[in-house]
Amino acid sequence: MYTNGFKMAATCLRSVGKLGRSIAHLSKWGPRYGAARCIMSEAAAERAGVSGVLHLPLQTFTEEENMMKEAVKKFAQERIAPLVSKMDENSTMDATVINGLFEQGLMGIEIDSQYGGTGSSFFSSILVIEELAKVDPSVAVLCDIQNTLINTLLIKLGTEEQKEVYLTRLANNMIGSFCLSEAEAGSDAFSLKTRAEKHKDYYVINGSKMWISNAEQAGVFLVMANAEPSAAYKGITCFIVDRDTEGLHIGKKENKLGLRASSTCPLTFDNVKVPEKNILGKLGHGYKYAIGMLNEGRIGIAAQMLGLAQGCFDNTIPYTRQRVQFGKRIFDFQGMQHQIAHVATQIEASRLLTYNATRLKEAGRPFIKEACMAKYYCAEVAALTTSKCIEWMGGVGFTKDYPIEKYYRDCKIGSIYEGTTNIQLTTMAKFIDKEFDA
Ligand SMILES: Cc1cc2nc3c(=O)[nH]c(=O)nc-3n(C[C@H](O)[C@H](O)[C@H](O)COP(=O)(O)OP(=O)(O)OC[C@H]3O[C@@H](n4cnc5c(N)ncnc54)[C@H](O)[C@@H]3O)c2cc1C
Repeated sequence: MYTNGFKMAATCLRSVGKLGRSIAHLSKWGPRYGAARCIMSEAAAERAGVSGVLHLPLQTFTEEENMMKEAVKKFAQERIAPLVSKMDENSTMDATVINGLFEQGLMGIEIDSQYGGTGSSFFSSILVIEELAKVDPSVAVLCDIQNTLINTLLIKLGTEEQKEVYLTRLANNMIGSFCLSEAEAGSDAFSLKTRAEKHKDYYVINGSKMWISNAEQAGVFLVMANAEPSAAYKGITCFIVDRDTEGLHIGKKENKLGLRASSTCPLTFDNVKVPEKNILGKLGHGYKYAIGMLNEGRIGIAAQMLGLAQGCFDNTIPYTRQRVQFGKRIFDFQGMQHQIAHVATQIEASRLLTYNATRLKEAGRPFIKEACMAKYYCAEVAALTTSKCIEWMGGVGFTKDYPIEKYYRDCKIGSIYEGTTNIQLTTMAKFIDKEFDA
């Protein structure tokens, strides 16, 4: 049955050229089949008293995941790569890239086909983010936030009306932004000061947000505001705010070290009136949603850093195999080989941590510590890899004639957003402490 389904999907992919449609078609035959198959088979194997036969390597993909990975790779090479340098220089995301992401079904990967989404899995989202980041980490974060934060929040918490209105657009033509951080509420996010005051059947939001990714292009903002300050963080509520709502101002985008094509803007809310029906989930549960989403979102950032490291490495090694000094390829010096092998091992370890956290999440098993480990480690490895790659290329690695210096600039964000490295380490330590409780 699955074979027919995948064949149909592959045929669709070739004839329509739209990955989204193909995968949506496929959902009829059994989406998320990879994870489900493993869980069911493991249980079945246990019943049958068989062990060890079904522990597939972490890098085993379903046909659906493979198709997604290959299609994105092609899309990134053909449609994004030629624009990367210009987008970085001008600090803009080319409209053709955004349109392409929607056309390919990459902005609604887990959104059900009923709303025009791709109907695929979280693992597919992770593979897509990794592939995009190999070519441009700015494009990857656009896709990452949409899929792992915005869409997921609406899929999990949206009323049928909210899903109909927003998921349909998010899958097809609208970008969403996640608005938690404020000038004085970064790592201590729940000390946020943006307020939502209740009036009859609507709320009035006042305050400001900072560092909001994709705000320049976003059509909708998921805004964390406190609707009951006396309850402290238990008053934090998630509101759906449309871009054109009166009183919402999107400020000038930041002039950043890296991820320059990804817009990052401050927002101000000046008596922004939001209907009560635009509360996402329950009143006062925003802090829970934000924590939950960021736990998952961190795996997306891990994938972004993993892709970035791999992309940088892939763009560097060919140079070391061509460049000749002292009569031989620089790759042939043992001093170089040991460094290259060391970095390659760390990239591989990053991949395993990321895929493992993803599979744990998909299997409904605890994954928070593993997600923190993946994000922390991938950011470290991305920093090491990009730094080493510049060194391996010598002087040319330091110029804008090669893409390496951009990866070096782009990687720094990995240890800052969606929880700094210190915050990841603190969370991991909490788990470790508990594990040693008597
Ligand atoms: C490019 C970019 C995009 C972003 N996109 C978004 C977005 O879309 N939506 C959104 O809501 N936010 C976004 N952010 C905000 C981001 O999540 C915050 O910058 C991040 O959480 C860190 O907060 P901060 O910058 O205020 O640093 P601070 O919290 O002030 O941290 C400064 C330093 O102090 C350390 N520190 C703080 N507290 C502790 C502690 N308890 N223990 C040990 N060390 C500590 C930190 O690790 C860090 O090294 C973005 C930021 C950037 C730069």
